[in-house]
Amino acid sequence: MDEVEKILEEAGVKPTANRILLMREIIGAAHPFTLADMEQRLQPMDKSTIFRTLGTFLEHRLIHEVDTGGPAMMYCRCVCEQGHEHQHIHFTCTRCGQTFCIRNIDPSCLPRPDGFQVEQVNCVMKGLCPKCAGRG
Ligand SMILES: [Zn+2]
Ligand SMILES: [Zn+2]
Ligand SMILES: [Zn+2]
Repeated sequence: MDEVEKILEEAGVKPTANRILLMREIIGAAHPFTLADMEQRLQPMDKSTIFRTLGTFLEHRLIHEVDTGGPAMMYCRCVCEQGHEHQHIHFTCTRCGQTFCIRNIDPSCLPRPDGFQVEQVNCVMKGLCPKCAGRG
């Protein structure tokens, strides 16, 4: 069985042709992406199919939703370890506009407010990425 099919099967998602195509693109994506990015990369797959499939992947925790405060919701692949909280930090560069997954900082070490049950932490840092910072 192909690796992408295995990832889908293991998450309890039936590996249809469209799902395999989209998941392969997500695995290959270096950075978080928008629905429009995927629409462009997966032509001629239609936007509503991609949107529905992203919804299925979200439900099965194969991907994360990243709200950077920009005009379009972004998505990235889930790399959470099992038993870990389902989250990681993102960084948006204010100069080039690129969003990055920051996977070596664990946001679950943030203190929790007393009496509140945290289900999700949406942590987006903004500033200059290494490339833009290097340009002065
Ligand atoms: Zn996750
Ligand atoms: Zn940058
Ligand atoms: Zn991410």
